[in-house]
Amino acid sequence: MFAFLPRLFAGESVRTHLRDREARLAHMALHDQETGLGNRLSLERLASGPGRTYVILLCVDRFEVVRNAIGYDSMARLLVTLGHRLSALSGGAPVARIGGGTLGLVFSSDSDESAVALAARLCEAAHAPVILNGAPVDIALTAGVARAGELNQSVPSPVDRASIALDQARATRRRAAAFDADRYGDPAGNLSLVSEIMAAMDNNELVLAYQPKYDFRTERISGVEALMRWTHPRRGCVSPDLFIGMAEETGHIRPLTEWVIRRAIADQKVLAAAGHALTVSVNVSGRLLSDESFAEFALAEVAASAADLCFEITETAVMDNPELALHIIARFAEAGIAVSLDDYGAGLSSLTYLKQIRADELKIDKSFILGLDQSSRDALLVKSTIDLAHSLGLKVTAEGVETPTALALLRGMGCDLAQGYLIGRPVPLAALTEQLAGPTVETSLARQA
Ligand code: C2E
Ligand code: MG
Ligand code: MG
Repeated sequence: MFAFLPRLFAGESVRTHLRDREARLAHMALHDQETGLGNRLSLERLASGPGRTYVILLCVDRFEVVRNAIGYDSMARLLVTLGHRLSALSGGAPVARIGGGTLGLVFSSDSDESAVALAARLCEAAHAPVILNGAPVDIALTAGVARAGELNQSVPSPVDRASIALDQARATRRRAAAFDADRYGDPAGNLSLVSEIMAAMDNNELVLAYQPKYDFRTERISGVEALMRWTHPRRGCVSPDLFIGMAEETGHIRPLTEWVIRRAIADQKVLAAAGHALTVSVNVSGRLLSDESFAEFALAEVAASAADLCFEITETAVMDNPELALHIIARFAEAGIAVSLDDYGAGLSSLTYLKQIRADELKIDKSFILGLDQSSRDALLVKSTIDLAHSLGLKVTAEGVETPTALALLRGMGCDLAQGYLIGRPVPLAALTEQLAGPTVETSLARQA
């Protein structure tokens, strides 16, 4: 009579088994395997729930360094402790691990300012050392916050926006920051820009603008800097800071720079034919200083044309691959290409850098020159930089000279060359030739200086 029972029990146990399995899968789908904390999906779900207005992500500073120092297991335990601590500090809110050393939670707040203030307080409060195997491990956190309900087409996920806010906090050395859409810009649009720039070279959308450099000693324009300009058919003028940065990041800077060098050499001949023998400065991105085939190209072009060129380089270049960069720079110097250290003072400006590079010129960043009239501190820095450069045998150019006062101050400090809107804005070749033909530029500057 009860012959069917074992089958029923068997069916029951299969069902229980399936239920358990489903529950396990559901748990896995919403939890981080390593720490057992919620995962990204769980945070996304919480963020879309009612009343939760902000997502906050908190990341352990120098995560990889700390993890490599204490090991993966200890790092997982540290994150669990931290997760519990953050949860307790925020009234029991569930904490998720988003990946690496990043934890996240959702909470309510009435403005970006108070959300950031709360995030900063959480960072401070969570800062106490975590004890692992009896030893204290000291960590610091940085936080990013984003409004959950905001409609943003380029970054629809509030967790992604909070993650970008975290990067923005780091970039601006803040403990916590809210997502700043303006600062983030339009990376998708920029990407299409990169694919268009190669065509721009062939379509004559790229031109060089030349900005004069004035020599204090001879009281003449002795050179020009070639600056790339791109007039996009739909977007209009695109800032070089944007498209050059993008081209550098995506490996397109080499063909662009080769184009600049060819164009600049051709234009130098035109200028010489019009009676203006000028050194032409070309900006060479750091990345190209570890590219030997670029160096071969440049050396061959200069050898074939006997051009009088100066390569303006920035110091980050040398930091990336110092040995190769220094070797390539030395080859440029041997070939008679002058080397200028651009934007000096804007970066780390280490003395080692000055000692290592065989440069001819140091170009003081315009941020020091623009404030020269008002700031005695800037004046002191500029004067001491000029003296330092001279003692190392380098000429000094000041960029960003906008006022007669700055020009006069620089002359008094023994600066060699000046560049800036006062002397001349970057203009196309035809306009430059016209300006140079007129007597006014140099004579009026000599009067002003
Ligand atoms: P940079 O080489 O430091 O060039 C100087 C920048 O300062 C130029 O900006 C110039 O227009 C601007 N400037 C000149 N005089 C003044 C002044 O008196 N006041 C102010 N406020 N600004 C002044 P631009 O043309 O927008 O170029 C920005 C940067 O883009 C350049 O900085 C350079 O790093 C890069 N760049 C431009 N063309 C090229 C290129 O062909 N190759 C590479 N790799 N970089 C380039
Ligand atoms: Mg430059
Ligand atoms: Mg510069």
